[in-house]
Amino acid sequence: MKNKVVLITGGSRGIGAATALQAAAAGWDVLLSFHTDQTAADAVVLQITEMGRHAMAIQADMGCEEQIRRLFAVADVQFGRLDALVNNAGIVDTAQTLAEFSSQRLERMFRINTIGAFLCAREAVLRMSTANGGHGGAIVNVSSIAARLGAPRQYVDYAASKGAVDVMTLGLAKEVAAEGIRVNAVRPGLIETDIHASGGQPDRVQRLAAGVPMKRGGTALEVANAIVWLISDESPYTTGSLIEISGGNL
Ligand code: NAP
Repeated sequence: MKNKVVLITGGSRGIGAATALQAAAAGWDVLLSFHTDQTAADAVVLQITEMGRHAMAIQADMGCEEQIRRLFAVADVQFGRLDALVNNAGIVDTAQTLAEFSSQRLERMFRINTIGAFLCAREAVLRMSTANGGHGGAIVNVSSIAARLGAPRQYVDYAASKGAVDVMTLGLAKEVAAEGIRVNAVRPGLIETDIHASGGQPDRVQRLAAGVPMKRGGTALEVANAIVWLISDESPYTTGSLIEISGGNL
């Protein structure tokens, strides 16, 4: 029998790359997507291959439905099964107040963070649901503690895009619970990755760490371990859960 297969969006860096490596260490084969950084994605694939697992990296913009469909078609053809989806790819934008937001900014944010996650979840359900002849599976959405906190004067749009993903997690979990699919979300707090630099705040974790009850930022590995538990057979009765991984920053 073939190994279980997890598809991780945005697996080239940060939380997605850490999840890919931890999943491989736990025995999963891994299909990961990236947007622009093929070199980083190939390096993750190489590390997984060296662990003796099957891995592949595919370019796919989460803002493009056609590219999402193509990504899942690769899972069908190259891996022959899909057991878990980690909806991890996501973006922030520069710090602005809501009064400064352009409609282009809002459309990009929701297209990638929200609609992209919905479309990936749809493709996963179509393949995994026992109602469609699948053998069940697990979906983990990577949300953010921003969905609780609102991210004022930073990126309320980002927080809202993740709030929508949280609601999708709750609704979809109930929709497919009897079809063998579990759906959960993690809500990371301040995690040390490149996402902050991409939003023009490379020192964001160091600057805000003192406000976290644990007085530090988290690591990608600390989030990855929770994700790998949620897709594993160790969490069979856990669905519709939103798990904070934020050092007490609630
Ligand atoms: P990151 O280091 O910036 O990595 C982002 C990943 O997403 C990369 O693999 C990137 O691909 C991919 N990506 C970016 N835009 C994409 C697009 N349009 N289509 C497809 N893939 C795209 O981010 P991270 O910090 O690991 O964040 C991962 C997830 O955790 C995100 O959903 C983020 O919102 C969430 N999160 C992060 C934090 C934090 O503090 N770091 C906190 C809460 C939630 P390339 O490498 O090819 O660019």
